[in-house]
Amino acid sequence: MSCIFCRIVAGEIPSEIVDRDDDYTAFLDVTPLADGHVLVVPTRHVATIEEMPADAAAALFAAVHRLAGPAREAVGAPGSTIGVNNGPATGQTIPHVHVHIVPRHEGDGAGSVHTIFQAGPRRDVAAVGAAIRKALGR
Ligand code: AMP
Ligand code: ZN
Repeated sequence: MSCIFCRIVAGEIPSEIVDRDDDYTAFLDVTPLADGHVLVVPTRHVATIEEMPADAAAALFAAVHRLAGPAREAVGAPGSTIGVNNGPATGQTIPHVHVHIVPRHEGDGAGSVHTIFQAGPRRDVAAVGAAIRKALGR
């Protein structure tokens, strides 16, 4: 088993686990972006969100919902940024789905999700909407 998160789920390598059940494991990031930085991973190895079975995705988001409050309360943070690097093009470094929960404080120097993207010309919104509806089969 070469996947580092599979090995954490299996207990083969140490991690600071804060919560787990049959569907997910939540543990602290070894290189935290902020105090209380939690990673929530599905038990079954899968690289991207869209490859997950719907029930596994639902269980993962339920775990995020369960942990979001405690993660920030534990460090006295008034908010958190919750995100997924989903695929290698996004900077995902470990190909096992993981949701970052990063507690945030006013003036902590980090930006919003918007700050990771550059402004620039974009395709027509209606055309993109139509393309997504078509991809959904709607
Ligand atoms: P990403 O860039 O979204 O793939 O994030 C991967 C995250 O995994 C990074 O924030 C790393 O610090 C974290 N990480 C890597 N190895 C470990 C580990 N052994 N235990 C806990 N977190 C880890
Ligand atoms: Zn894995």
